[in-house]
Amino acid sequence: MIEIFDGHNDSVHRLLEYRPDGIDFLTRSSGGHLDLPRAVDGGLTGGLFAMFVHPEQRPMDNLTVTKTGYKVRLADALDASYARRKTKEMLDALKRLEARADRKVRIATSVEEIKAANDSGSFAIVMHMEGADAIDADLVELEKLYYRGLRSLGLVWSRPNIFGHGVPFGWPGSPDTGPGLTDAGRDLVKACNRLRIMIDVSHLNEKGFWDVARLSDAPLVATHSCAHAICASTRNLTDRQLDAIRASDGVVGVNFSVKCVRPDAQDDADTPLHMLARHVQYLVDRIGIERVAIGSDFDGATIPAAVKDASGLQNVIASLRASGFEEDAIRKIAFDNWMRVFQLTW
Ligand code: ZN
Repeated sequence: MIEIFDGHNDSVHRLLEYRPDGIDFLTRSSGGHLDLPRAVDGGLTGGLFAMFVHPEQRPMDNLTVTKTGYKVRLADALDASYARRKTKEMLDALKRLEARADRKVRIATSVEEIKAANDSGSFAIVMHMEGADAIDADLVELEKLYYRGLRSLGLVWSRPNIFGHGVPFGWPGSPDTGPGLTDAGRDLVKACNRLRIMIDVSHLNEKGFWDVARLSDAPLVATHSCAHAICASTRNLTDRQLDAIRASDGVVGVNFSVKCVRPDAQDDADTPLHMLARHVQYLVDRIGIERVAIGSDFDGATIPAAVKDASGLQNVIASLRASGFEEDAIRKIAFDNWMRVFQLTW
């Protein structure tokens, strides 16, 4: 079985529902996409776990469907103290999971810790924050989060904050939807570079992306995005953006979200895995085999029924094989490329 490290899931919010007698990441469930037993079945040995603060209004409440596509009104900014309280709850939930997991789950802050966890049979969690809404312009909170284990940060989710502007969901459409980073956003990039926190450009609009590309001294990373040339979603990366990721020696984690994968962007789980493999092939051709990885979006999106949940990850591997990828290329996509970019960044 091919070992897999995943660049993005939204499973942390389910940990918040944990009760000693109820749903638990450590026990098998039929709900959602990810828990430890299903990760083991699928060969998943670790991943970036996103702390994401839900908007009070669900984004799809703002959905407009037309004959030729769909648009989602950009979500409102969050109140920073609300975001901070929610982020603390999620971070505490991850720490409690590690504490009660009897070493079956370890929070990792380096490639060595990820590999040591995996070598001893533990699942490795790397803490990621999807949107810096909980951080004030003084960046004090960023340092606090770093010392509690944060190693990866998306500057924005698909909403504005004091640092920049997220890209609203839409298809077909360009990711060039608004202004670039603010002064505070530029400072945040520099602070992430200084602390060696990985910066995630998924959900950032295109001008913000180019600001990060100009300012950051680390490889450009999109944890869960696909190729705009195949699916013209605002959430996907244009060829120019991909070329910049290549030039910086970064990585793209291919998103399983059917709305980013399917050329017609339909929210339809009946999406064959060769469509996902087509994005992988396109990205490999454009940016190189060292720079393409997996970013499932488990528990955050509709994914192909042929994957179903983490237990079905080897079906993705089988589909890559069927598309002609050799075993050493598959190992890079499944695991090694994330370790490579972590090592360069941290
Ligand atoms: Zn996301």
